[in-house]
Amino acid sequence: KPLTDILQNIEGFIGYSENNFPKLHKGKSRSLILTELEDRLKIDLDYSSGKVLGAMTTPPHDFARYIYSKFIDRNLGDRGLNPGTAAIEKEVIEMLGNLLGDPYVDGNITSGGTEANIIAMLLAKQNNLDIKEPSIVIPDSAHYSFDKAAILMGLKVKRAKLLSNYHLDFDHYESLIDDNTIALVGILGTSALGLIDPIEKIGKLAGKYNKYFHVDAAFGGLVVPFMEELGYDFPPYNLKVPEICSYTVDPHKMGMSVNPSGSLLVKDSNVNSFKFEIPYLAGGAFPSYNILGTRPGASAISFWGLMQFMGKQGFVENVRHSLENTYYLKDQIEEIPELKIATEPTMNVLGIQMSSKANMSLDRFNSLLRQKGWALGVFKQWNLLRVVLMPHIKKSHLAEFLKDVKAIF
Ligand code: PLP
Repeated sequence: KPLTDILQNIEGFIGYSENNFPKLHKGKSRSLILTELEDRLKIDLDYSSGKVLGAMTTPPHDFARYIYSKFIDRNLGDRGLNPGTAAIEKEVIEMLGNLLGDPYVDGNITSGGTEANIIAMLLAKQNNLDIKEPSIVIPDSAHYSFDKAAILMGLKVKRAKLLSNYHLDFDHYESLIDDNTIALVGILGTSALGLIDPIEKIGKLAGKYNKYFHVDAAFGGLVVPFMEELGYDFPPYNLKVPEICSYTVDPHKMGMSVNPSGSLLVKDSNVNSFKFEIPYLAGGAFPSYNILGTRPGASAISFWGLMQFMGKQGFVENVRHSLENTYYLKDQIEEIPELKIATEPTMNVLGIQMSSKANMSLDRFNSLLRQKGWALGVFKQWNLLRVVLMPHIKKSHLAEFLKDVKAIF
């Protein structure tokens, strides 16, 4: 369908033709435009309502927003013109590396987890140019960014099954590895349920079969280290696992920073690193891992400022708040006979399913919730709804949600 048709069907859309740019000879006033924008954007869901229950994003911290708008003109695509911004980017990578067990890691800020995962698969491919029919082994719970990478690079995707508790079937995973495998992927915080793959065990496979190993910690990379501070125990998951080649971590998820902000950390000691270089730039050529050319320096600067401002303690408190809400919601859901949780939560992500007592499909339940304004993630392949207890969710929002849920049954 053309975009105009889709937009025309969205409630509140004022009309494409009125604003048709070529017909708009004279500009409009700022106030008129702002009024129109506010009016039209009212249909977007607002985080402060607490109804955005299924997203892995949250409103950026005020200080990050402030820094972003102040330095919005900085372009990391031309680092020679922005040496200050480039140095800040390097420090952000170092700080993330430090948090995740290796301050000497290389890397770049990316637009998000998708870009970072695609670059990681590109690195794997560049490290295996002799393999003619390359494939990647990923858990079935892996994010779609790996499928995008596969389409772009002509890779075959081999998906390892999940067990009935949605954790990885490790034996099946190992059985998929063969001579054509160019990368093994493990996840720290799966998109559907926030579960953690056995990173150390996959690392051992990477060593045994001599494969590139990428960890997608887009979500969990800024949750798990803070949970450890709260006393939770995890098997080895970070850059200290020696076979890891690259690691995705997203500041625009649990890092509370502005969007777009992801990162790819690269252990260049393990990788024959491939960087893009643009020779003609005014500031000179500075190779980077990024697919994007022009890219927002303000993303790196904002997260640098936010880490300085919040300190580790600030992030720990955020995670504590999110976990308290997760366990509160889990306990409440378990008291509703028609519902059940999909599996024991590992971090601040909760899967909700219909129990055998429910005489309603998951689709119907979700659409009734949607009518009441609640936006949950939907994973049809596992028959579950996802709630991500992001920092903007308050207990009072959950109480409202539970009231609406109980009214449905
Ligand atoms: N990896 C995981 C585990 C994710 O959950 C997501 C998104 O939710 C991504 C990667 C992609 O991140 P982005 O939307 O920032 O591209």
